[in-house]
Amino acid sequence: MLNALTIDVEDYFMVSAFADTVKFDDWSKYESRVEASTELLLDRLDTHETKATFFTLGWIAERYPGLVKKIAARGHELASHGYSHRLVYDLTPQVFREDTRKTKRIIEDVIGAEVVGYRAASYSVTKRSLWALDILAEEGFIYDSSIFPIRHDRYGYIEFDRFSKIVELKNSRQILELPLSTVRLFGRNLPVAGGGYLRLLPLKFIKWGLGNINRKEKRSAIIYLHPWEVDPGQPRINGSWLSCFRHNTNLKKTEQKLVELMENFKFAPMKIVYADQIEEVKRGT
Ligand SMILES: [Zn+2]
Repeated sequence: MLNALTIDVEDYFMVSAFADTVKFDDWSKYESRVEASTELLLDRLDTHETKATFFTLGWIAERYPGLVKKIAARGHELASHGYSHRLVYDLTPQVFREDTRKTKRIIEDVIGAEVVGYRAASYSVTKRSLWALDILAEEGFIYDSSIFPIRHDRYGYIEFDRFSKIVELKNSRQILELPLSTVRLFGRNLPVAGGGYLRLLPLKFIKWGLGNINRKEKRSAIIYLHPWEVDPGQPRINGSWLSCFRHNTNLKKTEQKLVELMENFKFAPMKIVYADQIEEVKRGT
């Protein structure tokens, strides 16, 4: 069973948890560590002969085209993480469209290939921003991976399906939605998907969760992480207690956890894991 490994390429100070402290206009004043930490991930993936999907910010692709080219040259899939990590439900549909179009073009120009996948900042496609799926399909995206079927203070759409699903949109368009993985436990959807959950939860639980999805439910899981999660030496940002806890806990352990997951499960990029459904959407549009 193949699972999808996805990396959201952004720097440690760009995350939504610190958006109150770090303003977009000041991004270029912070020490950038995204190149080094992404390269570390590329090396670990090479060692384990694993390819992934890299959802990359347009801002990063503009400033570090060499990094984006390197990701592509090493056989990984490039996809869009929006331009400047703004939450979709805070944007108007018009602004979202411009942001999405601009970022797709920036990444495509750098790699010389089409970008068909999108992931919103902080999984901000929720019940109230579902209109974003229509815009993504209109702008040429084939799949989206922005819905997290859990309850959370910043994101989550608990009623959404737990697994890949072709969503029927306006004007008979379609998009493939690839929700982040959860496991059913005590009648709830529990996130086992990566990021903070990968850092905070015991590896044993994550392995059990993925095994459960693969073997019992016979479905692929989608894992995500960020380059800054394998960079324990990153400068600390002054955020709220909760944001700092979520961001900084177990940064030293993530790299090893990823390695162990790669030793125990098979991972591939979205475009491989969901190739059949991607084809189906392409044929329909
Ligand atoms: Zn992000």
